[in-house]
Amino acid sequence: MQWETVIGLEIHAQLATKSKIFSGAATAFGSEPNTQACNVDLGMPGVLPVLNKAAVRMAVTFGVAIDAEIGQRSVFARKNYFYPDLPKGYQISQFELPIVGKGEVEIELDRGVHKPVGVTRAHLEEDAGKSLHEDFHGMTGVDLNRAGTPLLEIVSEPDMRSAKEAVAYAKKIHQIVQYLGICDGNMQEGSFRCDANVSVRPVGGPLGTRAELKNLNSFRFLERAINIEVERQIDLLEAGGKVVQETRLYDADNDETRSMRSKEEANDYRYFPDPDLLPVELDEGLIESIRTSMPELPDAKRARFSADYGLSEYDAEVLTSSKSLADYYEQAAKVAGDAKMAANWVMGEFSGALNKAGLTLEQSPVDADALGGMLLRIVDKTISGKIAKQVFESMWAGEGGADQIIEAKGLKQITDVGAIEAVVDGVLQANPGQVENYRNADEKKRPKMLGFFVGQVMKQSKGKANPQQVNELLLKKLD
Ligand code: ADP
Ligand code: MG
Repeated sequence: MQWETVIGLEIHAQLATKSKIFSGAATAFGSEPNTQACNVDLGMPGVLPVLNKAAVRMAVTFGVAIDAEIGQRSVFARKNYFYPDLPKGYQISQFELPIVGKGEVEIELDRGVHKPVGVTRAHLEEDAGKSLHEDFHGMTGVDLNRAGTPLLEIVSEPDMRSAKEAVAYAKKIHQIVQYLGICDGNMQEGSFRCDANVSVRPVGGPLGTRAELKNLNSFRFLERAINIEVERQIDLLEAGGKVVQETRLYDADNDETRSMRSKEEANDYRYFPDPDLLPVELDEGLIESIRTSMPELPDAKRARFSADYGLSEYDAEVLTSSKSLADYYEQAAKVAGDAKMAANWVMGEFSGALNKAGLTLEQSPVDADALGGMLLRIVDKTISGKIAKQVFESMWAGEGGADQIIEAKGLKQITDVGAIEAVVDGVLQANPGQVENYRNADEKKRPKMLGFFVGQVMKQSKGKANPQQVNELLLKKLD
């Protein structure tokens, strides 16, 4: 039997508001447990939720960015269930009338191969608190700091056909929300989490029963969890079994998915409109103002980088993969005055150094102005590209700015013709045999042989002779 995988994702993006969705308590990550939950977040009797406008704006921004229908009237509903980290006994979410309706994003599968993935809806809701197991033996701790943090739950159509497609889609959404500045995208801190709904079916057949894989907090886990779940379902079906609709957890340590609970149906939640909150009525003016102030999105930025900076499609793609990298690159290129060179350095030495040190862009010891300033010294021929690598290493090690290092270490390029000529003459005199060979060799072999002399000159000048001048002088003297 040929099986086909079907995947739909539910992504929870934590909105980057300062305060919670229905209260004034702070949303900052990492505070002492239970110091950021107020009476509203705790659902104390007599308190009333007040909707945070910033969260509404952010949700609409996302809707406009993916060209979705905007729910001009949306309704908050209570989703009732019991859990220790949910003190109210219900979560305020949206059910029948979400703030963002049908939309679409495009994912790239292979170079130039695109596929649209439908977004069913995106709705606003509050997050629950956290149950803490690790530090409590035989007990569970409850931290309610997260209770009431605004989330945008983005639900896709079951349009993906492989783990790879699901990852491409999740990365695309991750990129978009960060570009929009509505979510910090930090997956370790749980600001961006994925649930994957996975089923298999005979190719082209009706949809199979799905299992939901909860809270995958890295793209690697998302891919891995889907792949092993697909295998599990196929094995089960081929052995004559049935997939049951349930929630499963991915256990990265044992590399398996495990049943957590059977899946509730919507009617188990007894959804009903929250009587404490009015329906959200959006006026056209707000939607229009969001539309006109939309920041540049990844696809547009990529196209602009190709067009304006003459970058290859690949380079433009890499440099726009995150907004922070794109911003870094643009600033470095502006200071250097050479977009192509800046692209090579940002993707090469710079990214390599970050990787090696295990740092994020934000933690880089060399900022965009500093890198751009160093590149400017290549552009104005103060140093060669090769020496620049040495300068960059020193900058990375915190030894100062480019000019300071060039000065202190005496790395200025030698451009004085007389000085270079003296070295060139010395090298030619010291290697009469090689000179003889060169002169007797045919045209095709000469460029390679020239490399020997260039190498000698560079060595003797400690890499400081201007390579172009060295080449020119050698050719003049040898030919
Ligand atoms: P719930 O809220 O109960 O999880 P939804 O109807 O909102 O259910 O669907 C959740 C997700 O499951 C959506 O992303 C949808 O695309 C996906 N989905 C629905 N049916 C299937 C299926 N048979 N196989 C894979 N994914 C599915
Ligand atoms: Mg769900």
